[in-house]
Amino acid sequence: MVCDQYQCSVSQPLVELYSGEATLRSIWDKAPSFTWTAAQIYTVWVSFQVVLYMCVPDITHKFLPGYAGGVQDGARTPAGLINKYEINGLQSWLITHALWYANAQYFHWFSPTIIFDNWIPLLWCTNILGYAVSTFAFVKAYLFPTNPEDCKFTGNVFYNYMMGIEFNPRIGKWFDFKLFFNGRPGIVAWTLINLSYAAKQQELYGYVTNSMILVNVLQAIYVLDFFWNEAWYLKTIDICHDHFGWYLGWGDCVWLPFLYTLQGLYLVYNPVQLSTAHAAAVLLLGLVGYYVFRSTNHQKDLFRRTDGKCSIWGNKPTFIECAYRSGDGGLHHSKLMTSGFWGVARHLNYTGDLMGSLAYCAACGFGHIHPYFYIVYMTILLVHRCVRDEHRCSSKYGKDWKRYTDAVPYRLLPGIF
Ligand code: NDP
Repeated sequence: MVCDQYQCSVSQPLVELYSGEATLRSIWDKAPSFTWTAAQIYTVWVSFQVVLYMCVPDITHKFLPGYAGGVQDGARTPAGLINKYEINGLQSWLITHALWYANAQYFHWFSPTIIFDNWIPLLWCTNILGYAVSTFAFVKAYLFPTNPEDCKFTGNVFYNYMMGIEFNPRIGKWFDFKLFFNGRPGIVAWTLINLSYAAKQQELYGYVTNSMILVNVLQAIYVLDFFWNEAWYLKTIDICHDHFGWYLGWGDCVWLPFLYTLQGLYLVYNPVQLSTAHAAAVLLLGLVGYYVFRSTNHQKDLFRRTDGKCSIWGNKPTFIECAYRSGDGGLHHSKLMTSGFWGVARHLNYTGDLMGSLAYCAACGFGHIHPYFYIVYMTILLVHRCVRDEHRCSSKYGKDWKRYTDAVPYRLLPGIF
């Protein structure tokens, strides 16, 4: 609503509320409501992504060297199960974007500004899906859980709804809620939403600003990286440790597509043209951040895949041997690496992610606070995630985790935090 009614100025509505010129009710009343057009667009969108996910087995891994698609194993669940996943996100992204391009260039079935033009009505539709999915997952956990031994009932119904009960809810053998909702309706849409914003700038002003191009390019790198590494994603906290509830279900359907794309939205209302030096600095920050993010993640992945038999920064990696027990009482062994980026700090992948996030915000100039929401949010998300993860690792590895934190004392910024 700040964007829709106040050109993305956060202070203006506050001033109007304070002076009595506007009320929360009058702002709410001016917000576009649900429309059947948006409902149709969203239904077609989600159905299309379901079809791509379920019915088009991956072939890209057959001709893209180094890409791990097709059927892949997930990590061991707390109950000791290993799920199989059909990894075809990159292919879905490519098909979707090829169709988007073909439509914009040749078919003209719909305007490339379609997403921007239906933005708030789409917000209501995504909320319907977000709450429906979370509620379905909640009820399913009680009535027909996929793997009952991996369910977590805490005794607090509100917590169960928010944080989820089932670990890997599925319909049938392959429709995995976490993999589908984490990646498909939201992250495939992310780059299309940005393209729609760029098209809107073109329509409104007759040009696309360099800031909009930077946001599109830097975020597209992040999205493509996500799909290129989708198999690796099976080993991240979302899939490996979080249960599927409102936090993931609503977050993936609503929070991600609407709040991760605020910079592009801001630039539609405020077409910032950056100086060459400013644009170059943003690009550099974004690329360095991406490099740290990707290399750190890659190092851990390589280390874990090869069980430490690899080279990190030209040397054999050092590590701490750990032991832990899974829910079924089985004793397992693991290793925590203490070299490469993982020897500098315990979560430099988050630091790189934050540098990239800051770059998206800085691409919008310094005129408003609104586009900086993202870096504030990501800092809270990743610091909280870091603390949450470390708490879990500490319970999992006990004194071995203490040995690791003694060897690598800082979390995100060496010498500071
Ligand atoms: P990590 O990939 O850092 O995984 C943490 C896990 O790695 C730990 O639980 C532990 O698992 C293992 N681990 C920790 N330290 C070591 C070590 N020294 N050596 C080997 N293994 C170790 O975290 P996430 O899954 O949260 O993040 C993955 C990426 O996704 C990050 O780059 C993050 O920035 C990004 N991300 C982005 C988000 C966004 O909204 N844009 C949201 C969330 C994440 P184990 O139990 O196996 O030992």
